[in-house]
Amino acid sequence: MALRMLLDFVFPPQCGGCERIGSGLCNTCLPRGPQIDRKLPTLKVSALGIYDGAVRHAILSLKNGRRDVAEAFAERLRARISANAIAVPVPTTAARRRQRGFDGCELVARLAFGSHVNAGLVQVRGETQRGRGREARLIVRQRFIWRGPPLNGARVVLLDDVVTTGATLEACAATVRGAEGVVSEAWVIATVP
Ligand SMILES: [Zn+2]
Repeated sequence: MALRMLLDFVFPPQCGGCERIGSGLCNTCLPRGPQIDRKLPTLKVSALGIYDGAVRHAILSLKNGRRDVAEAFAERLRARISANAIAVPVPTTAARRRQRGFDGCELVARLAFGSHVNAGLVQVRGETQRGRGREARLIVRQRFIWRGPPLNGARVVLLDDVVTTGATLEACAATVRGAEGVVSEAWVIATVP
């Protein structure tokens, strides 16, 4: 504790969005506008903000292990998502997880929803399929598999940090449905403009 205070004095914690002094996200950087809704083929996805500026910087801080930033986002998400759904985080690849030692999206999910998290999705292949032959491409088509406890018709909300085309969320939704989860909704921290 004394060491923590000393470190905070010498290296004061900074906002994960703009680097002003203060932990988590400062009032300017916390996404606080209305949610942004997008329609994907089988999902409605809602975002706390646009992937730009301070929010983009904050997501990078989260990926680099800033737990205080994860807490700030978790608090925002908790206020928006109904408590009777199961939160399923979109996983990063195993390699990236090993390299970073943790998964930022799963951390946010656990801070926000505690025991209502089911981290049953596993990413079995990376996103890039460049340079593979046709046959290999067919095999890697299924990017996610379900390794969690059975969902037995439970209502699921998918969680991810950023949505771009939505292909990843749709792939996850298909896998969740294959595991008998009911999913029509996803939440992300930010969406591309
Ligand atoms: Zn800030």
